[in-house]
Amino acid sequence: MDFTGKVAIVTGGANGIGRAVVQGFVRGGAKVVIVDRDAAAGEALAAECGKAAIFRSADVTKAADVQAYVKAALDHFGSIDCFHNNAGIEGRVAPTAEYDEAMFDAVMGVNVKGVFLGLRYVLPVMLKQGRGSVVNTASIAGLVGTPGMPAYVASKHAVMGLTKVAAGEVGPAGVRVNAVCPGPISTRMVQEIARQVSPNNPEGIERAYSAGIPLRRYGVAEEVANVVLFLCSDLASNVTGAQYVVDGGRTATPAGIV
Ligand code: NAD
Repeated sequence: MDFTGKVAIVTGGANGIGRAVVQGFVRGGAKVVIVDRDAAAGEALAAECGKAAIFRSADVTKAADVQAYVKAALDHFGSIDCFHNNAGIEGRVAPTAEYDEAMFDAVMGVNVKGVFLGLRYVLPVMLKQGRGSVVNTASIAGLVGTPGMPAYVASKHAVMGLTKVAAGEVGPAGVRVNAVCPGPISTRMVQEIARQVSPNNPEGIERAYSAGIPLRRYGVAEEVANVVLFLCSDLASNVTGAQYVVDGGRTATPAGIV
């Protein structure tokens, strides 16, 4: 996909899915602002990208940090054409009846407030430009329940709500807002969830879960990135307020495989 002359911001861009999106944008000719709280990984990725990318250390739950990465994009590259609003955390795996209140707040803080603040400060720029495309990273946990992950599931359902509201608000100005809903993707996040569920045999979790996926495997970050890049591109010019599932068919077959 051709992103020549375009400027993109990717939050959570230092690792996992965001990192693959950054690399895809750079391959397509875009200038990229990599935003993350993991400064070591973010700086290293920016160095790999050369002049095509800058890194900004930020905590997406802090409005001042969000305003600073928006300003950095405008100061360095002059516009914001694409925004992958992606940073997220998994929290703990525990039933609702036992879930820790502080952990609930932490997950909602990053996954909901972080996404809201990104929209809050990027959308005014896109509205002024009269163009732009946002992709919020939700999850299949934004569409169905996952027992043992109440905060994460609630937060991702909230991302779906924010996506639909924003799409309705900014569509008339030529700005698009969509959500990508990954299933299990091989990144640090799923490894951490598997470790919490089965500390002695995290690989067993992947094998068991994969048996219920029509494609019989977890996805990789690049497979989500391809869909994010498509939604950001002009190829998706009539797509807004939509949810794109990238899960190997998992949610299409809730009863599992017979
Ligand atoms: P990851 O842990 O590899 O990457 C997440 C990135 O977000 C990290 O670089 C982390 O430092 C950054 N981050 C976390 N909190 C932050 C904060 N407060 N401020 C700035 N940066 C912060 O995980 P991933 O799998 O690449 O996750 C990316 C997104 O995809 C998340 O929103 C996640 O919920 C979503 N997702 C992942 C999966 C999966 O199976 N991996 C499935 C569905 C949805």
